[in-house]
Amino acid sequence: MFDPVEKLKEYIRHPSVSADPAFKDGMVGAQKFVSGLLTEIGFKVEVVPTALHPVIVAKRMGDPKFPHAIIYGHYDVQPPDPLDKWNTKPFEPTIIGERIYGRGTADNKGPLMVHIAAVARLLEKNPRLPLNLTFVIEGEEEIGSKNFKTFLTQHKDKLDGDFIYMSDNGILTPDQMIITVGLRGMLALEVEFTGPQSDLHSGMHGGVLMNPLQALAEFAASLHTPDGRVNIPGFYDQVVEPEAWERGELKRVGLEEKAYAEFLGIKDFHTPPGYNPFEAIRFLPTLEFNGFSGGYQGAGTKTVIPSKASCKITCRLVPNQTPENVKDGVVNALKARCPKGVTMTVTMQHAATPYVVIPPDRSNTPRDQSPALAACFRAVDQAATEVFGKPPIYLREGGSVGLLADLKEVLGLDAVMMGLFLPEDNLHAPNESFHLGVMKRGIETSEKVLAKLAGM
Ligand SMILES: [Zn+2]
Repeated sequence: MFDPVEKLKEYIRHPSVSADPAFKDGMVGAQKFVSGLLTEIGFKVEVVPTALHPVIVAKRMGDPKFPHAIIYGHYDVQPPDPLDKWNTKPFEPTIIGERIYGRGTADNKGPLMVHIAAVARLLEKNPRLPLNLTFVIEGEEEIGSKNFKTFLTQHKDKLDGDFIYMSDNGILTPDQMIITVGLRGMLALEVEFTGPQSDLHSGMHGGVLMNPLQALAEFAASLHTPDGRVNIPGFYDQVVEPEAWERGELKRVGLEEKAYAEFLGIKDFHTPPGYNPFEAIRFLPTLEFNGFSGGYQGAGTKTVIPSKASCKITCRLVPNQTPENVKDGVVNALKARCPKGVTMTVTMQHAATPYVVIPPDRSNTPRDQSPALAACFRAVDQAATEVFGKPPIYLREGGSVGLLADLKEVLGLDAVMMGLFLPEDNLHAPNESFHLGVMKRGIETSEKVLAKLAGM
């Protein structure tokens, strides 16, 4: 019998840190471990090289009349630093109470093991399972899935499934399943102002020229309206008002504004009119300043007019916006606000397209959706209701995961994202852990999902 906790422990012991070449052996070890595990339970495994870390593609085909699920996961983990903040060794899995501790337990080794265990158990009971299954497990998620889109494009023929099924997203409490149905996109840029050709003495030259820091401040202050909206013409043109059911799902979570404000340590929210803070995170785009630099920032005083000043900006985008359809409007508006007497350069950084998938039986707007995707959503809804005792909640999230838009763009497939990690699992931080109760319920749910899709 497949023992998921023992397998997870073995998996955690491979320190697969994709960001650091010193962990090369750990990356290879984790890749070989997962490949071996999938081979053992009956999959045909191919390790596909990329420019950096290979992608595992594992297939077990059944009857072509049945759905073909592509199960996504990643075998790489975040670096374990700072090591002195861990209470256990990051690559020595340790069970304390109802949690298993170790780097990657929640992101993404535990959740991936949930689906491998569900498949293994189902195959133990039904060796002739008619379902078609392909695992796609990459090794670069924690460093931005840099080669994943190229991989998808080059190996599209291997990935002719009906939908993506995955768990690299969260829930809020151990007893309520949450299905993620959307993520915001991203447009990152840097703006630099240049004034005089070098730093100047503020006594000898002060008062005769535009100080680049002052230009930056005036520019930055112009980018929002007092009520909290982004002050760029056309910025909201593509944004679609959320449907009533989406606001309803959010209400079911029972989040409280007061508790949220306390958690953030703020006195007031600054949310555009018509949206509560929980809605604003999910349904509205933003323009945020992430850093300002320029001038003297050391101890005491320095009477200087700096030659340059700059700021880093990220916009979170919502469905129907794309980095492409927003970029020109934003850049043109920024350039139009360049104060006299300085020059401005705008450099584009990374970008990600937002993602949304509407579960069937929710929206009143008819949608062209594949029957297999709808079947998977319905199977997850039923299975989670059976296991958790209440129906799942469908939520968009505020963060950005560019690979979902890549999967949609290259393969034309939507994703059913079953949440499995908790806020207290400490992803990317010391003392990462995974809740064993959630793991158990996750396996039960996933096994039922796959059984339902197989008509059992
Ligand atoms: Zn992850």
